[in-house]
Amino acid sequence: MAVSATVVVAGAGLAGLAAAWELSRAGANVALLDAERRPGGMVVTERPGGPGEKDGFVVEGGPDGFLAAEPDIQELARDAGIGGRLVDQLASGSSLWTGRRLEPLAEGQAAALLGIQIPSDVGAQLAAPLQFGFRSFATGMLDLVEALVARLAPVFRPAQGVTGLAPATRGWRLSLNGGSTVEAEAVILALPAWAAARLVTGAGVPAARHLDDVIYYPSTTVSLAYRSDQLAAAPAGTGFVSAAEWGESGAAVRACSYSWLKYPGRAPPGHALIRAFVGPVDGDPAAAAHAELAGILGIRGSPLWSRAFTWPRGLPRYKPGHAGQVAAVRERLTRLAPLAIAGAGFDGAGVSACVKSGREAARGILQRIGS
Ligand SMILES: Cc1cc2nc3c(=O)[nH]c(=O)nc-3n(C[C@H](O)[C@H](O)[C@H](O)COP(=O)(O)OP(=O)(O)OC[C@H]3O[C@@H](n4cnc5c(N)ncnc54)[C@H](O)[C@@H]3O)c2cc1C
Repeated sequence: MAVSATVVVAGAGLAGLAAAWELSRAGANVALLDAERRPGGMVVTERPGGPGEKDGFVVEGGPDGFLAAEPDIQELARDAGIGGRLVDQLASGSSLWTGRRLEPLAEGQAAALLGIQIPSDVGAQLAAPLQFGFRSFATGMLDLVEALVARLAPVFRPAQGVTGLAPATRGWRLSLNGGSTVEAEAVILALPAWAAARLVTGAGVPAARHLDDVIYYPSTTVSLAYRSDQLAAAPAGTGFVSAAEWGESGAAVRACSYSWLKYPGRAPPGHALIRAFVGPVDGDPAAAAHAELAGILGIRGSPLWSRAFTWPRGLPRYKPGHAGQVAAVRERLTRLAPLAIAGAGFDGAGVSACVKSGREAARGILQRIGS
């Protein structure tokens, strides 16, 4: 396939979509490549349609929301014309499952227990939960991906994994799986850190090998649907975090969201949708999650259906010194033809941080190519 573009964005997760959106808005000739057929990266929303027991549910396989205090994703949503689809969390507060009972947790404590890094300015605002709580989109996080892709469809090239990057006469030459190549004046790599590390190191920046120090933790989420009358009572808050260590006394559920109470429109009337974060288990993670949740939430009978998503490389965590290493690589890149890195592997794992990272990379590239 012959692709010609001034700027190639590799990776169509939120960071790459935000970068391509910014470039396209500025009138740049952009191509957006992804190794997968589906845009969105870790954003996966399923809305099973048609008559049947799955109709009317919104199932998130990856992120399900973001802190209302984070502006970047909301600004992009407004720019993309879907500001009206932003929805606030319905409930507030979360609990700790002690192994015997659910106890209320202070705001922000659930994230801390899960090891999620919340910026300190945002953390301080969590003291006022409903005002500064979480937000999502009316029919799931995919709303934003769909709005961006509506504009970017003509330049989106699915199933085009980048396998190599080398300097060209004017800019860069990218090798793609299948053997074809693309030349571009500028490149944005909005890829997982390990993929960007290999490409940038191969393009002559030895310091970029440290980008591969970012550890991506595996994660499995299981969504389970029930009739409301299968639950002893509607639980309080948006979910719980388990105090049990993984594997301890067979505990599988690490945390759980009451999706149908957390955001509007996640389940049809008379139904409940629960999403569990499950640690490594022998056998079916949905069966393990249901068995535990039945005891914790007083659920009778079997789930109507379940859907598991496994992320062998899920949320990234940085080692000490990460920001310095990323800054050193970026400094080195300023001495080469326009090349930028963006995304969760570098600038923060939250969806809003990814949007910010992608847009900033695009603005930097636009400056360098003089658009
Ligand atoms: C289970 C789960 C729950 C989460 N929940 C939340 C949440 O509630 N709130 C929140 O803020 N964040 C959450 N996150 C984190 C957030 O979803 C991610 O950090 C963010 O979506 C990453 O976006 P990205 O664009 O940087 O990377 P990705 O979404 O990983 O996109 C990278 C893209 O690059 C493509 N790619 C890879 N290699 C190549 C290659 N060689 N050539 C071309 N393309 C390539 C991939 O196919 C992918 O599409 C969650 C993550 C997980 C896994």
